[in-house]
Order: sequence, then C-alpha cells, then structure tokens
Amino acid sequence: MIPDAERCAKRVRTIEAGQAYFHRHDARGTVAEDGKLWCRQHAPSLLKAHYEERNAQRRAGYEANQRREVARTRRLQAGEDALALLPEMMGAFTVALDHDQLGFVSASSNDLLARAQAILEALKGDTP
Ligand SMILES: [Zn+2]
Repeated sequence: MIPDAERCAKRVRTIEAGQAYFHRHDARGTVAEDGKLWCRQHAPSLLKAHYEERNAQRRAGYEANQRREVARTRRLQAGEDALALLPEMMGAFTVALDHDQLGFVSASSNDLLARAQAILEALKGDTP
C-alpha cells in the first residue's frame, strides 16, 4: 500500500459489496500541481490536455461530416438538375442529329452542352 502522502490527491468512488465509498485514488502521485500530488491519469494539466485533444478530434470529425453532407447535397441537386434537363437534352440531341447531317450545331445545343457539363462537374467535384 502506498502511503497517503505519496498517493494521488483525486478522490474516487469504489463500490464494494454493493456499498459505494469515496477515498483517495490508490495510484502513486507523480505529478505535483496546485500543491498536491496527482497520478498521470488525474493531473489537472494532463486532464486538460486530454480533453482539449479529444475536443479537437470531435470537432474535426464534425467538420468532416459537415463537408460530406454539403457534398452529398450538391450531388443530389446535380442529379435532380440532370433529371430535369434530360427531356430537353433528348429533344436537342434529336435535333442535333438531324443538323449533324448538315454539319450544323445550334446555339441551344451549345447551351445545353454547357449546362450538362456544369452538372457533370458538380457530380464529380471534390467528393470527400
Ligand atoms: Zn489518480
């Protein structure tokens, strides 16, 4: 048994035979802070660093989820745009096929192509 004077200052709870009681942590205090000895698990500065690290990881995870959600929403919108554009494109391709035989591409076909390319870019764009 470690003498009281050398033990961690943290008060912890133990349940023994269904009975809870509080006592000083049984570990040896190796970090001196605030005039007390603490084990590495309970030293206030180490606890603070631990929670800051954990918060940073959680924040990074949250931000990654946000980026994925934004990308997903953008892809869904691009898919809806593509579906909405499809009938017009089919009509234009039919016209373009007719005009290709004459070596001519209409302005509306160029516009549709530009819109289709924009949708394609949105579908491909920086997917996390
Ligand atoms: Zn401790």
